[in-house]
Amino acid sequence: MNAQEIQKAAVLGAGTMGHGIAQVLAMCGVKACLFDIDEDAVDRGLGKIAANLAKGVARGKVTAEDRDAALTCLSGTASMDEACEGVELVVEAAPERLELKRSIFKDLGERLGADVLLATNTSSLPIGEIAAAALHPERVVGMHFFNPVHIMRLLEVVKTGESSDAAIECAMELGRRMGKEPILVTDTPGFASSRLGLVIGLEAMRMLESGVASAEDIDKAMKLGYGFPMGPLELTDLVGLDVRLSIAEYLQSELGDTFKAPQILKDKVAAGDLGKKSGKGFYDWSER
Ligand code: NAD
Repeated sequence: MNAQEIQKAAVLGAGTMGHGIAQVLAMCGVKACLFDIDEDAVDRGLGKIAANLAKGVARGKVTAEDRDAALTCLSGTASMDEACEGVELVVEAAPERLELKRSIFKDLGERLGADVLLATNTSSLPIGEIAAAALHPERVVGMHFFNPVHIMRLLEVVKTGESSDAAIECAMELGRRMGKEPILVTDTPGFASSRLGLVIGLEAMRMLESGVASAEDIDKAMKLGYGFPMGPLELTDLVGLDVRLSIAEYLQSELGDTFKAPQILKDKVAAGDLGKKSGKGFYDWSER
């Protein structure tokens, strides 16, 4: 496993994170195939990448040559056979459900040789349990990207009890190749980032619920008072309320009631208000 030699990768799940991961891979010259069980999601994901790159060119952050080179590295499919053909790396960005991720890794383990690096973008789930479903769990690591992937510099590389040194080194080096700043974290619930970030997000929801202040003012307090680039409720809308609810439920089961999901979060998810991706969450994104 050598990060500089990775030429072809599959990204599983074309949602908020998957399309961004495919974009940063393509931008460093890796041929990235975006897979989703939903064909429309593949098309939407590829469309979002094209829009991100176009915006990058318009803002002078990406050259037209780099945009064109990235676009030629990208493809999409709803066929796992096609996505996994000849890859040296797979990054999974499917929904935050342990059994789903385990079934994906079982399948990957059977399809791909022991030298293929398998990474999950889970925000909180036990990567050791996901890896245990795959043949050769030593090549499984966490590669936890941040949203929006093409902008956020942090990459959390998560080492399970079984991850090989070669797999970890490859993931860290690949992160650098993608222009990210990797940190190494052990496989504990919520790792270093989600655990801390979620406490603030859930408390902000409880404050909104009990009428402490409006969503705008709670967010403003953290931005202007603490220098956060984005308020915790706005960030929840960006992450996806359903994603944050899944993480909260898992962390509550592992770490206790600090992570108990507020009723307002459950109600919004039940109503389909999932944040920016659905048009409405704590804010109305159609007006923003
Ligand atoms: P999302 O809901 O936006 O996208 C998930 C996609 O996976 C959907 O398009 C869905 O059709 C697809 N999918 C469902 N079953 C699949 C399967 N079997 N194989 C492949 N694709 C499948 O979710 P997301 O926000 O992109 O989150 C994906 C993962 O990334 C989760 O584990 C989440 O915890 C993690 N994550 C999310 C964020 C965030 O800000 N949203 C940040 C870091 C990590």
